[in-house]
This record gives sequence, structure tokens and C-alpha cells, in this order.
Amino acid sequence: MSTARYLRVAVPSPLYRHFDYLPPSGTDPAALTAGVRVRVPFGGRRVVGVLLDTPTHTEVAASKLKRAQGILDDAPLIPADTLALAHWAADYYRHPLGEVMQVLLPTALRQGRAAEARGTEVWGLTHAGRDATAASLRRAPRQAALLAYLQQQTGACEATRLDALDAGWRAPMHALLKRGWVEKRQRVSGTDFDLNMSDAAVTLNPEQRAAVRAISEHTDGFRAWLLNGVTSSGKTEVYLETIAATLRAGRQALVLVPEIGLTPQLLARFRARFGAVAAFHSGLSDSERLTSWLAARDGRARVVIGTRSAVFVPLQRPGIIVVDEEHDASFKQQDGFRYSARDLAVVRARLAGIPVLLGSATPSLESLHNVNQRRYTQLLLPKRAGSAQHPSLRLLDIRSRPLEAGLSDLLLDAMRRHLAADGQILLFLNRRGYAPTVMCHACGAAIECRRCDARMTLHANGRLQCHHCGAQGSLPAHCTHCGAAAFEQFGQGTERIEAALAQLFPQTGVARIDRDSTRRKGALETLLAGVQDGRHRILVGTQMLAKGHDFPNVTLAAILDADQGLFGVDFRAGERMAQLVMQVAGRAGRAERPGEVLIQTHHPEHPLLRHLVREGYASFAAAALAERRLAGLPPCSFMALLRAEAPNAAAPRAFLDAARPLLAAACGADVEVLGPVPAPMERRAGRYRAQLMLLARRRAALQAGLADCLPQLQGLKPARRVRWSLDVDPAETY
Ligand code: ADP
Ligand code: ZN
Repeated sequence: MSTARYLRVAVPSPLYRHFDYLPPSGTDPAALTAGVRVRVPFGGRRVVGVLLDTPTHTEVAASKLKRAQGILDDAPLIPADTLALAHWAADYYRHPLGEVMQVLLPTALRQGRAAEARGTEVWGLTHAGRDATAASLRRAPRQAALLAYLQQQTGACEATRLDALDAGWRAPMHALLKRGWVEKRQRVSGTDFDLNMSDAAVTLNPEQRAAVRAISEHTDGFRAWLLNGVTSSGKTEVYLETIAATLRAGRQALVLVPEIGLTPQLLARFRARFGAVAAFHSGLSDSERLTSWLAARDGRARVVIGTRSAVFVPLQRPGIIVVDEEHDASFKQQDGFRYSARDLAVVRARLAGIPVLLGSATPSLESLHNVNQRRYTQLLLPKRAGSAQHPSLRLLDIRSRPLEAGLSDLLLDAMRRHLAADGQILLFLNRRGYAPTVMCHACGAAIECRRCDARMTLHANGRLQCHHCGAQGSLPAHCTHCGAAAFEQFGQGTERIEAALAQLFPQTGVARIDRDSTRRKGALETLLAGVQDGRHRILVGTQMLAKGHDFPNVTLAAILDADQGLFGVDFRAGERMAQLVMQVAGRAGRAERPGEVLIQTHHPEHPLLRHLVREGYASFAAAALAERRLAGLPPCSFMALLRAEAPNAAAPRAFLDAARPLLAAACGADVEVLGPVPAPMERRAGRYRAQLMLLARRRAALQAGLADCLPQLQGLKPARRVRWSLDVDPAETY
């Protein structure tokens, strides 16, 4: 007996629902498993969706049901555990499952391409072919020659090699194929995922050994570890050793790193240890991504290392998940499907029943809170590995000091000292361009972006740029306010520092490392090579410089403007600044020579700075957590933001005003609804932005309220005039 069944499909659409279809003619839905791709008609287009279920009942009227056009996979493309993670994420972040699937699948699969890695054709001998003798081919000399050639090779041959041997090789090759002496295979580049592990290059110190032992004693079941180790304490060696144990047990490892953390250096280190490793990053082509994805899913790649979206890469036999630099903001997707890869890594480990290892020199307050709550177990690496010493941190009070392009005389003295002692210097400034403000000298009006509530940044090429919407322009001839023709530049970006350094230290090589100087492919590698070989003695740069790289000869690191971070609008501004200071500090004195870290500030008495400098990050973090508790802010509460934007200033407000009572009613007394308020930078790229903040004492209350309320929000009339989005656990509140 068979009842009619329908196909329930997650379709790429912003709607919070799935869609039911009739099966393609001739297909028995009962034989289909969730996770196969289905091609379906949708809004006049044909799209690729993912099968969720084959229910026997549908709410769609029979006359409206459309027929699916085809099933794209014989077996589920997405394994059940990955589907479960997608469901969990869609639920928690209140995001349409169809769009979650879009993040989960590599582009090639989203477009409906076959789930096979496209490789190069290679020809190799079969057993019979290896034993065959050319003598038996006397009447087929070309086959004999080809056979003899293949017998001399150690592996299979690509077409290009055979072309060089004999342009007409295909006909005799086919004859050999028919005899069963050769076989044709697909070789996928970069996927020789054999397990040629090499031994550890270093002997672990007692703290590292203790960490590895603790983790390996609890591998059968979920457990979350926070590896809290100062920069250069050997965290990566702990990852490597733990992963080696996982691989020996026949399981796979997934390693997540921040967007700019997946350096060639780090990849090389993993590859040196584990042979071929499947990488996932933005530099890959669609085909390469597909290849890595399939290799991970089918268990051929033993180690998978990637940025944010790699958290969704399916694994055949997951054994451990590592999240390096877990505090890094790039783990949170900032638009569309706003998930946190760090948090999903923990969820995924829990669903899979495996350990997850979060590592950082400056753990997020979230993770430290989880340690305090005994949800995570902390492992400490308090000392630098090898012979390197902790650098010393010092505040430079630059009030009333002479400044040269933002460099104080105190800092310049220190720089001369370190250069004379053959050291390298790293200067950190989180602002690219030449000058962040250009002002009319007559009336004082700053040049602003036409589409944003923000000033235009002057770049060294003489162009003005808005760093928020990307708008560009040239310096106007006259002030639009008073008509005067004289402009002044204020403040400094990395380009201006670079120019000042060329004047101050004409004999010394300077490298600037920021988004502008590294835009060209290969530019970053060239700059870094110049740093390694000592051509560049002074490095000036933004965030890109602060993380991941190992500069053994840097002895002085300086933060040019700590005040930027002290008065940020976001409640995490202080935490982010402290993390940045410690990361920059971590670049100094990584080898034998001791490091010095100088922090320029106009606020040397600021409690946050003093805490950090005098007592270190742990003490700072404890104080900051206590403050969050008092203020009722995350991680001591749970937050969600409802954002809205529109070209018209009143529309976002109208939508949020209508949403507010619905949210308040749905969430109940355990959730505070604050706002609506304009976003701190209200107008960006020509759109006005406003937001509502929800703060909850209990996560469940917030989750239940949001689940209830979302369909109602979609139905609100003012919702049609805005673009709105929900951000659960926002990383930024503006
Ligand atoms: P982290 O990841 O904490 O920044 P790394 O693992 O990169 O630290 O280690 C920093 C440096 O110290 C590397 O050059 C590494 O090879 C070295 N190192 C790590 N552990 C040891 C050890 N036990 N003995 C000697 N050198 C070590
Ligand atoms: Zn702008």
C-alpha cells in the first residue's frame, strides 16, 4: 500500500517557510532521503533546493502544487548530521533554512553541478597490465611502445605527458584499455590525502603536555575546552599534537581560523605535519572548493582547515573541532545569515559528541564566562614557549608632547634605540588612508560623504574615500559651505605615517601593510618576505599586521592611538581594544630578543588601560566581566538586535515602533525591549538605520519570543517599506 507523498524542500528564499512539491514524474518519493538536491520551479525561475522530508500531507491546495523538475543526487548530498546543524542554526538565528543551505553548500553545488570533483584524466596500468609483456603486441607497435612507457612510470600519467610522447596516443591507449591492461581515472589535484604524518618538531613543555593529555583523556563525548595561552605559548603545537591523536584514532579534524589567520605560514605548518590538508578560504576557485568539500565529506581529507563558513563542511568521521583565536570578530557573519562560527562549532561538537578546543591569548568574555559557569574547561599556557620572554608594556603619556604625524618624541627616541640595536619595529594604527578628516580652513566644515553620516578620508593619491560606503571623489576646489578654497588635513592614517617615516628615517626601509597596500594578489606575500629578510625595518599597519604573523626580529611594537578604542560606541569596544593591544604586543620579542611595547594615549589614567598594562589581560577581563554583570550586558545576559533601514528616515522608525509591542508581548517579562533608537551612524550608503535591542536574562525566553514573533513581523504593513533583519548574539551593536 502506498500513500501519496510530497517533497518538502528548502528553497533559497528569504521567506520563513519551506515549500511542498509533487515529485518529478516517475520518481518514488518514498525512496528519497533528506539531503538530496531537488530542482524546482520557484517564482518563475528554476532553483536548486534541498529535500527536507517526504510528508504524506501538505497544506498546499492540490491546484497550486507544482511538480519538481528533477532530483540531482542519487544519495544525500548533505549528511544527516550536517542537516541537523543547519536546522539548529536556522532555528537559533531565526534565519530561513533555505538561505542557511546556501551558506552550507559550495557555489558549484548550489548551481546544480554534479557532486563529483572535476579532476584531470590519468591513465595507469592495471595488475594485468603490469605483468603483460610488450612481446605479445608485436603486431601493434604503438600499443607496445605505450605499454613499455607506462611500465617505466611509477604512477599514472596525465594527458599532457602522453601528448609529449606521441601525439596520436589515444587510439592505442583505448586498445590497451579494452585489453584490460590500463585504466582511466580522475586525479583531483590537491587531494592526495594520504596520511603521511611526520613527527612533532618540538618537544612539548610540561604545560603543553598537560593540555594535550587532558584533552586526549576525554575524546569519547562532547567537551568544550578553552586553551588560554599567551601569544607564542605554543597553542598551535597543542592543536597539532591533539589532532595527531585524533587522526591516529581514524577520525577527522576541523580547524577554524579567523579571516586573516589562514596565512600561508599556518597552512604550511599543518601540511608539514599532516601531509595534504584540505583548505577552505576565499582564495579558492569554485572547483577547488567543491573538491575540498567532497574530500572532507567522503573522509579523504583528514584535516580540514578554513575560515567561518567551514564550520558547515560535512565530515565523514568527525573527531575534534579546533577554533583558533576564538575571540576574533570575523567568526561572526555580519550580514545575511548572521551566525557565529565559534558558537556553532561548539554546537556541532555537542551534536556530534566530540571535543571542541577554543584557543586564544585573549579569550572573549563569553568564553571566560562559560569557564566560570563550568560549561568549558580551561587549560592554561602561562609562559611563552622556547626561550622567548614576555614583552613589557608601557603607557606613553603624550599629553602636551611634541607630535610628528602622531608620533611622540618619546616613541621616536625608542624607535631610534631599537633600530640602533638592529631590531625591527611594528607600528599599529587602525586607520588606513592618509588623513581621516579634511576641513575647510575658513569655516571649519569637514568634507562629509554625501550618502553617510561620516567624513571622507583623504588618501595619498589625492582622492577622497568614504570608508563606510566606498564612495570616492576628488578634493573639491571650493568649500560647499562658504566657498573658500583652502583645506586643512587632520589626523593620520597609515599612509601619512608611512610618509612621515620616510622623512624621519630616510635610510630605513618602511613597509605599510593594510587593505590598500595588499589589494593586489601576491602583494602581501612580497611585503612579508621583505620583512623576513630584513629589507623592511619598520612596519606600519592596521589589524592585518596585528594577527597571526610571526616576525621574529620585531623588538618594539607600538600602538599609536589607544584612545580610539577607549571611547567606542559599542559595549565591546574596551574588550576589543584590550585584545588588540595584547595581540600587537604579542608580535614583539617572539624570538630570543626581549620585546618592548609602547602605547600612546592622552588618557594614561583610564582604568581600563591601567588594568591591562599593570596586571595583564586576565585581570582586565575579570574586571570587564564584573562590569557587564552590573550593566546586565552579554555574556551575563542574552541580546538580539532588530535592525531596519530605508532610504526614508521615518520608515525604519515606523516599522520598529510597530514591532516593539509585538516583541514585548511575545517575549514576556524576562526580556527587556529597548528603543527604537537611530543607529550610531544613522545614515549609511544613503539609507537611514534604526534598531531595537532585546536583552534577556534567560536565553530560552528570548528564543521562544522571537520564534513566536517573527511571522507576525513579516506581516506588518510598515515592514514592506524597510529592509529589516534580526541579529541574535550581535557582535556589533551598531
Ligand atoms: P601560539 O600558537 O600560542 O602563538 P605557537 O605554537 O605558534 O604559539 O608557538 C610559538 C613558537 O614557539 C613557534 O615558533 C613554535 O615552534 C615554538 N614552540 C612551541 N612549543 C615549543 C616547545 N615546546 N619548545 C620549543 N619551541 C616551541
Ligand atoms: Zn559613505
